Amino acid sequence: MKKRRMSRAIGVGGVTIGGGAPVVVQSMTKTDTRDVAATVRQIKELEECGCELVRLAVPDAEAAAALRSIKHRARVPLIADIHFDYRLALAALEAGVDGLRLNPGNISDPKQIAAMVNSARSRSVPIRIGVNAGSLPKKPARGSVAQRMVAAALEQIDLLESLDFGLIKISLKAFDVPTTVEAYRLMARKTVYPLHLGITEAGLLREGAIRSAVGIGILLYEGIGDTIRVSLTAEPREEVLAGYEILKCLDLREHGPTLVSCPTCGRCEVDLFGLAREVEARLAMIEKPVKVAVMGCVVNGPGEARDADVGIACGKGKGAIFRRGEVVRTVKEADFLESLMREVEGV
Ligand code: SF4
Repeated sequence: MKKRRMSRAIGVGGVTIGGGAPVVVQSMTKTDTRDVAATVRQIKELEECGCELVRLAVPDAEAAAALRSIKHRARVPLIADIHFDYRLALAALEAGVDGLRLNPGNISDPKQIAAMVNSARSRSVPIRIGVNAGSLPKKPARGSVAQRMVAAALEQIDLLESLDFGLIKISLKAFDVPTTVEAYRLMARKTVYPLHLGITEAGLLREGAIRSAVGIGILLYEGIGDTIRVSLTAEPREEVLAGYEILKCLDLREHGPTLVSCPTCGRCEVDLFGLAREVEARLAMIEKPVKVAVMGCVVNGPGEARDADVGIACGKGKGAIFRRGEVVRTVKEADFLESLMREVEGV
């Protein structure tokens, strides 16, 4: 894995992004922002599962007006997602949001841009330049989609820098993984600003998590990326859990337990699918970063079970429980789950 690209650090409501800080996991509410109670409820769910930044759509003045009471009740920093109307950005900043996300080209009047930038600067609120492949400016039409995405972001960076504004973060999202990877690679060479990674409209839970893991994973492996969002057609907490799984796979963050389980084969003589599912459910209630292995036989199982903090290698009717590489007991099949979880609690 390559050394992480050293970007310029910015602070979003007390969360550091870039400059070598841990990669930040973010998500977005899917409620109507005008519905304060439902939006706050979803933000609380996101906070509980470890979401570090929450973005909210601000489609109209009523949504902007709701931000103030949402902000009062949220612990996690909030980012207002603004399209087309600079007055919504001004209202969001006045309501106390910690970041703005703007799509280049949606607001092009220089006076309106200056008004947003001046307000953001006076509050030390960063702006994400969020380029989406699907909403690129028509011109220039030269170059690949990735090159045009980078050109759109660079143009916006120049504009903000000309207004003496440097609290910038950039995203370059496409549904297509090679396009996204190309765009971020290009951008990483051209700027010092931190990069927010994501594959846009990635899909339902399984397809979207896999697509995002491939795209985001390639970039993180190359040292590119300071914050991530896994965009899913699913509850927002799934986005956060998937985000942490990607980071855990690359040893970039620790977050809760890790379950290792074998796929089973003709050697397995127990209900390993059922056991693994039950262990997964019990681990979801634990916060400590413990690695637990659930293995289906005594041929290949002990290797993985030994490597984990706690493991079980199941044989016919009985299984060996491992803790930190040593067998600590052999238990009957009926006791697999409880014996394993007792060891997990003791780690
Ligand atoms: S651990 Fe055993 S049961 Fe599981 S896949 Fe490997 S050989 Fe098969």
